[in-house]
Amino acid sequence: MNTALLVLSGGQDSTTCLYWALDRFGAGNVATVTFDYGQRHRIELDCAARVAALAGVPHTVLPIDTFAALGGNALTDAAVAVQPGVEAHTQLPNTFVPGRNLIFLTFAAALAYQRAIHHLVTGVTQTDYSGYPDCREATLRALEQAIRLGMDYDLTVHAPLMFKSKAESVKLARDLGALPALAYSHTCYNGQQPPCGVCPACELRAKGFAEAGIPDPLVERFRNVAP
Ligand code: ZN
Repeated sequence: MNTALLVLSGGQDSTTCLYWALDRFGAGNVATVTFDYGQRHRIELDCAARVAALAGVPHTVLPIDTFAALGGNALTDAAVAVQPGVEAHTQLPNTFVPGRNLIFLTFAAALAYQRAIHHLVTGVTQTDYSGYPDCREATLRALEQAIRLGMDYDLTVHAPLMFKSKAESVKLARDLGALPALAYSHTCYNGQQPPCGVCPACELRAKGFAEAGIPDPLVERFRNVAP
C-alpha cells in the first residue's frame, strides 16, 4: 500500500518533488497521478509517464475535460498564444488556468481517499514563480482544511518547494538524485523539445539552473544528440 500520492505534471518541480517523496516516504510507498486536462502540449503526459517509469513508481492518468471547454488561457486554448508579462484585467500571465490546482488537488485527494493514502505531495511554489494565486501557501492550507472537512479524512498536503527559489529547487534535485529524471521533464510553454528557450517557462527554468551552477540535464540531453 502506498503512503503518499504525488501530483505529477511531468514538469521540473513535480519531478523534483517525486524524488523528495521517495526520500521522505521511501521507495515503494509513493504513487503518482497525472491529469489529462486537455493541455495543448500533450508531450507533458508523455514526460510524466516517462518520469514515473524512471523512478519506478505507479502512475495513474485521470481525465478532466472541463478546462479545455472553458478555454480562455494559453495552456488549454489554441486560440490564445503565450504572452510575456501579465494581462491588464487580471494582473496574471495568460498561462494561468483558473481553478486548475484547486481541482487537481481535490481529485487527487479523492484518489488518495480511495486508496487510504494520507499524504498528498504537490510541486507548487509561491517563490520565484508566475504569481499564480493557487500556488500560494495560504491557498494550499485552506484547501487542505476544506478537504479534511469535506471528506472527513486526515490528509496532509505537502509542498516541499513552496518557499524555495528555482536555484534552491535545482540544488535540492541534485541532492535527491533527481537530475537524470529531469532530463525527461517538460517545462516549455510552447510544447517544444528541445525546449524553445525563450518562453517565460523556459527562461525561468534556465535562470534557476544558471544560478545553481548546474547544467540543465534536459538541455544537455539534446546537446548530446547528433544532428
Ligand atoms: Zn519554451
